Amino acid sequence: MTWRTLLCFGKRLNAPARRSCICNTGRLWSAVLPGRKGVSMFINTEAIVLRELELGEADKLLDLLSKDRGLLTVRARNVRRGNSPIKSACQLLTLSEFTLKDYRGKLSVQEAQPIEQFRQLRDNIELLALGSYFAQATGAVAQEDAPNPELISLLCNALYALGKLGKPQLLVKAAFELRLACLAGFTPELSACAVCGSEAPDRFDLSHGSLSCAGCREGESGIRMPLSPGMLLAMRYIVWCEPKRLFSFQLEQESLQALSSVTEGYLMTQLEHSFYTLDFYKSLLHYGETI
Ligand SMILES: [Zn+2]
Repeated sequence: MTWRTLLCFGKRLNAPARRSCICNTGRLWSAVLPGRKGVSMFINTEAIVLRELELGEADKLLDLLSKDRGLLTVRARNVRRGNSPIKSACQLLTLSEFTLKDYRGKLSVQEAQPIEQFRQLRDNIELLALGSYFAQATGAVAQEDAPNPELISLLCNALYALGKLGKPQLLVKAAFELRLACLAGFTPELSACAVCGSEAPDRFDLSHGSLSCAGCREGESGIRMPLSPGMLLAMRYIVWCEPKRLFSFQLEQESLQALSSVTEGYLMTQLEHSFYTLDFYKSLLHYGETI
């Protein structure tokens, strides 16, 4: 056969031979190349880089969170070379438009254009470390073949709030952690004490995701952490507010510190996961306090 057949969303088109073609009407297309074995599928998708791992002499292995495909692992060939045209789009914490080549189930980056690079984070090691923790925690919740637009939106909004809006780090961290727990299916019950029904409880149970009063105990309770009225209001706000208003609350520094401990403990208890990126972020804070 002297022609190439393009399959595009089930449409069969005859097209002149050329090396590559972006489908303007769809996000997935494939090419059967004369004289070659196998079929290469091409995917256009918007995705953020959650993790990067150096591979071989000049490649990287990337974990991407795609808007319409969930978690993807892709190879970026020659991206570590100085003249790579996909270098900036394949950086950690960059939201990009990717064209991916799928050959026998293995994905590689064909083309990539950055959409948002969250540049402010790259000038501040604390912000970059905290953003990396957000990315790792998001990766722990995301699943392959499970599009979750709310998840990618939460991550991008948190990075935007940290960098562009300059929101307090602990505020963004607490709101991100609690909302991420909700998206992972662990929405806490925050209306009243689970034992006596009081609407002003002062303890939060990390295992059960429930409220109680200091004197109220029923059955086997897990680790309970103290909760001030301001912290309880903030938690209710984070869980119940519109996504675009997530970082629009205020809390004094001492309460933010305590809230951040509660949300962090809750997320890790529910996910049964710890994060080395969080340990690194905390080590930077500790270092800053001791110099
Ligand atoms: Zn009670």
